[in-house]
Amino acid sequence: MAKILCVLYDDPISGYPSTYPRAGLPIIKNYPGGQTLPTPHKIDFLPGTLLGSTSGELGLREFLESLGHTLIVTSDKEGEHSAFDQELPDADIVISQPFWPAYLNAERLSKAKKLKLAITAGIGSDHVDLNSALEKGITVAEITYCNSISVAEFIVMLIVTQIKNYLASHSWVENKGWNIADCASRSYDLEGMQVGSVAAGRIGLATLRRLKPFDVKLHYTERHRLSPEIEAELNLTYHPNIRSMLKICDVVTINCPLDGETEHLFNDETLEVMKNGAYLINTARGKVCDRDAIVRALERGKLAGYAGDVWFPQPPSADHPWRTMPHQGMTPHIAGTSLPAQARYAAGVREILECFFNGRAIRDEYLILKEGKLAGTGAHSYRLRRSQEAA
Ligand code: NDP
Repeated sequence: MAKILCVLYDDPISGYPSTYPRAGLPIIKNYPGGQTLPTPHKIDFLPGTLLGSTSGELGLREFLESLGHTLIVTSDKEGEHSAFDQELPDADIVISQPFWPAYLNAERLSKAKKLKLAITAGIGSDHVDLNSALEKGITVAEITYCNSISVAEFIVMLIVTQIKNYLASHSWVENKGWNIADCASRSYDLEGMQVGSVAAGRIGLATLRRLKPFDVKLHYTERHRLSPEIEAELNLTYHPNIRSMLKICDVVTINCPLDGETEHLFNDETLEVMKNGAYLINTARGKVCDRDAIVRALERGKLAGYAGDVWFPQPPSADHPWRTMPHQGMTPHIAGTSLPAQARYAAGVREILECFFNGRAIRDEYLILKEGKLAGTGAHSYRLRRSQEAA
């Protein structure tokens, strides 16, 4: 029988909800491009309820215990005395969410002697040291597409709120004040701006599609160029390198995975290439940006604004400079954990577990690593450290 160790974020401070603002969720039949939503044999949860927190348990307990497996759920994940570290050595499967990542670094993986499967309940498996997982033959899978549209919507919101100076204006209301000039002196329109995406994968492309009606000029940079039909549909300009895009964009949204190639892609040097007064939106991963370079760029007015939901580490310390830097629109890591997204990734985790226990193949779409190499979506989107690539 297997031991499944599941690391989830804490319940709300006021306790696990007994009611929700809305009843039910819209029915979504397919993802763009035709990929089907998760197809587990059964689910034991109500879509629209909180599944990503410790009491929600991703709706897995009944299923796993009925098969005789052991499910451990904890939010305690930091340090060698954490519940995660204590339970890891004999765990067969680890489930973690990027929002509250259980960092499976090389040291932890070396102690996880029985680990066969690491599931990301979400998208983005950079919290797993893929090089070490690959050496140990651990399968890594994530729920591709489960929250891509959730994030694309979030990005559009961040772009518009930054450009309109929404957050600072809203705080005048909350603080019982009223100074229109103060709000308006940093407020612009998106119409007519040059907007670029670093990567046009599932989130990047969905974001570009949602931005088109704003009458902006769209740009992107990618390793694999999009089809001429998509470029024509969106009147997209392709940039073979990031610099040529950064030079002309008023808004840049980052939508690539964090890997050996993209860590600190945005540093003092690349930020300097950007237009003065550009806005940078990062919902990809905190480490794609050099933390202190972002602070410097905002302080000297190089960037007019920076917004996103991703940090390093997560959770960040109380004195993390991104909490207090000027003109930021940061939130905790939430873009991909809306209630509809939770229902999809909980169902996707269940599908993967059903496959694993029944000896059926996990969908290629969900695979990042399998049998010691990048596989499926991982083979397309991720790059390992160079030593491993050569191996
Ligand atoms: P996809 O795999 O669909 O897209 C990623 C794209 O990035 C691929 O098309 C890939 O290109 C491209 N890419 C990789 N490296 C580079 C590079 N160096 N320069 C330009 N493009 C590059 O993933 P998603 O769109 O679904 O997700 C993207 C990322 O967003 C995730 O990895 C995750 O980190 C983050 N995310 C954040 C969430 C949140 O809540 N904030 C939720 C979900 C995801 P190619 O096709 O050419 O290989």
